[in-house]
Amino acid sequence: MNKELLFCPLGGSGEIGMNMNLFGYGEKGDHKWIMVDIGVTFADDTIPGVDLIYPDPGFIVEKKDNLLGIVITHAHEDHIGAIAHLWPKLGCKIYATPFTAVLIREKFKEKQIDIHQDLKIVELNGKVSLEDFEIEYITLTHSILEPNGLRIKTPAGVILHTGDWKVDPNPLIGDNINQKRLKEIGNEGVLAMICDSTNVFSAGKSGSELDVRKNLLNIMARLKKRIVITSFASNVARMETAFYCAEKTGRQISLVGRSMHRIYKAARQCGYMKNSIDPIDPREAKNFPREKIVYLCTGSQGEPMGAMMRISSYIHPDVFIEKGDAVIFSSKIIPGNEKKLYKLHNQLVKDGIEVISEETEFVHVSGHPNRDDLKEMYNWVKPNCVIPVHGEHRHMIEHINFAKEMQVPHPVQVENGDIVKLFPGEKPEVFDKAPSGRLYLDGKISVDPEAQSIKDRKNLSSNGYLEVTIMITPKGNIHNDPILSFRGIPVDDREEFIYGLVEEIEIISRTFKVGNKQQEHNLIDALKIACRKFSKEKTGKKPFTNINLVKI
Ligand SMILES: [Zn+2]
Ligand SMILES: [Zn+2]
Repeated sequence: MNKELLFCPLGGSGEIGMNMNLFGYGEKGDHKWIMVDIGVTFADDTIPGVDLIYPDPGFIVEKKDNLLGIVITHAHEDHIGAIAHLWPKLGCKIYATPFTAVLIREKFKEKQIDIHQDLKIVELNGKVSLEDFEIEYITLTHSILEPNGLRIKTPAGVILHTGDWKVDPNPLIGDNINQKRLKEIGNEGVLAMICDSTNVFSAGKSGSELDVRKNLLNIMARLKKRIVITSFASNVARMETAFYCAEKTGRQISLVGRSMHRIYKAARQCGYMKNSIDPIDPREAKNFPREKIVYLCTGSQGEPMGAMMRISSYIHPDVFIEKGDAVIFSSKIIPGNEKKLYKLHNQLVKDGIEVISEETEFVHVSGHPNRDDLKEMYNWVKPNCVIPVHGEHRHMIEHINFAKEMQVPHPVQVENGDIVKLFPGEKPEVFDKAPSGRLYLDGKISVDPEAQSIKDRKNLSSNGYLEVTIMITPKGNIHNDPILSFRGIPVDDREEFIYGLVEEIEIISRTFKVGNKQQEHNLIDALKIACRKFSKEKTGKKPFTNINLVKI
């Protein structure tokens, strides 16, 4: 057989976020592909006006006729976030379990795309056959409903793609990790395991949602006034815990923030949380005494528009907090968000509100495998080769070392774009490189990070803007009194700045005649240079400058 089996991550290797993985099988140059996950990363303040970043799918868009389907492991944004943006370029079938499918459908609805025909629902522990790929969903545990590993069987061997997971002995909602099936798969032989690296630096076990529940109940039992809990909306076990603890402490619960309502609805629609108390509307909650209410809200990372930020700034229309109340951050402090979050914590404690976070009490567990969880998975699956993904380079290198310690015969280190030949060959290795990169969602348009719109806005945001309009007479003479406007330039004395600039422009203009296009260009260039130089001298800012010539 001269067919080969390939693995190629286009996103999520060398970074945490925007997962996109490809598996290819077939004769050289004529592979059929499946895509596993299609996620986003959230942009930070360094890219003004851009919220979402996703992998550049160019490599597979070119081969879209050979793309058999997009197989989704679970509904976190780093796994599904790009689907409605990129699917129109791919146009293939999408496979997902019921809860994930509900959230995917919403994304398409927002973009007014009818995905009805192309979104296929896979039952938990169900199977999908895509030509030579036989894909089996394996229920795992994580920090969202319906997290799945994928057993991908091909004529060249079996791959286990773990997706995101941990070993939670008491996930509270949804099934336990399908240990039995993982062991069977291991006994049948696994060619390669593509595995989550997020927590490879953390010793011991990741911990259980049940332990968080017990502790939250103790904390809430001692709190006497209003309680606000903030956590990731997608963590439905945590949501159910908040409902459970509210009920046990004789309180009503109210959901605050769009994603909380969205996820609650999706979970109920899929048959989860049926035994919990019903939440009450925040407007109704205002009528309850403060010791009788718990709010569960979005914004656990201090997002400016999140409910938590609006509550702590006293601008939320329905939720009010005051001295003596408590806020529980039942979530991870994601590296990079400390500043925003501590600002939020400071604001609260300053006003006499108790802040409880993972730094002070046990109110959160991670959804990713610590080293002892990894050990367990390795022992069940016994892979011939491990390819760490879902990690920054430092995580992935540590994971390679871990795999070596675990006596895995062939650990393979990859980054985005690497093509690994899993079969045939002595051992799996990177043998080629696919084009890879990122796309920014800028407004409604996907753009390259080098796009002019991005460069312009970075420039504008740090240097400001200056516009000069010059009138030209029919004879090609330049009219005095140019029209100036500027934004974002710090000026001491506005009059003086404008006067100086006008003088500068008039001096330059006098030396030019504007009879043809070339002369116009020369004038524009000379004015641009002079205006920027003048501004730099006077204000220290070299603004983005636009010169208009208007013929009168
Ligand atoms: Zn993830
Ligand atoms: Zn996840």
